Amino acid sequence: MFSELIGISNTLQQNTSIFIMLSIIFGLSVGSFLNVVIHRLPKMMTHEWRLNCLELQGKVAPDNSTYTLITPRSSCPICEHKISALENIPLISYIALKGKCSHCKSPISLRYPIVEALTGILIGLVSWKFGYSSTTLFSWIFVFALITLTFIDFDTQLLPDHITLPLLWLGLLFNLSNGFTDIKSAVVGAAAGYLTLWMTYWLFKLIRGKEGMGYGDFKLLAAIGAWFGWQILPATILISSALAAVMGISLIIFKKRGREVPIPFGPFLAIAGIAVLFAGPQLSSYYLV
Ligand SMILES: [Zn+2]
Repeated sequence: MFSELIGISNTLQQNTSIFIMLSIIFGLSVGSFLNVVIHRLPKMMTHEWRLNCLELQGKVAPDNSTYTLITPRSSCPICEHKISALENIPLISYIALKGKCSHCKSPISLRYPIVEALTGILIGLVSWKFGYSSTTLFSWIFVFALITLTFIDFDTQLLPDHITLPLLWLGLLFNLSNGFTDIKSAVVGAAAGYLTLWMTYWLFKLIRGKEGMGYGDFKLLAAIGAWFGWQILPATILISSALAAVMGISLIIFKKRGREVPIPFGPFLAIAGIAVLFAGPQLSSYYLV
């Protein structure tokens, strides 16, 4: 049994294309699970807050919720038809069902196959870039976290601590053995990432009297700093601010959105984080001497 595992491991190491293919399939399936997390985690958090509020008021909350990431099984939001395993194959089921619920024929959001495809592609790219290594394994987790955060932030303008904080710690742990950078750069990166946005937040608040971003953004930049070191922070901030500016201006021009309507900053930080994962050293070489 053990020797067979070593045999499989050797084959994957030698045969890059098989490894990348399997990674893509793995990414597609995890993407399917990320859809569940994106949908359920904010609901579970709201439920928890509600319970806490009731508790503070001295009321006993009836806790009969069995709503977790695993239970109950996913169902159609319109007719509550339970999604069977066959209807739950990433991408393929969506195409086979022509994007409609098999029971009531209501359209299924295009979001689901998009998240699955995006996860599959990014996981494949990570395996292609870092090969059969521990760096690939850690980068997969980094990618899963950023995709989940991006879509939760889109939906709810929240970046849950449940994801940002473990991501930060994991980055520091990986860099204990010089994963992406040395541990000193990682610790300074985490602190500087947090403090840069924290200071911007307070400056903005003092000058304009309102909040420009949320604490979740600080923690996400801290996590990116913990993964890749302080050296990549200028590139991360530059890329994410540029993207946010372009998006903000186009929304005002094309969608006639008021400039007061907030847009979540997390997705732009996440895109910058992915750019840094693939091209960090090249990006920081532009400004580091
Ligand atoms: Zn239905």
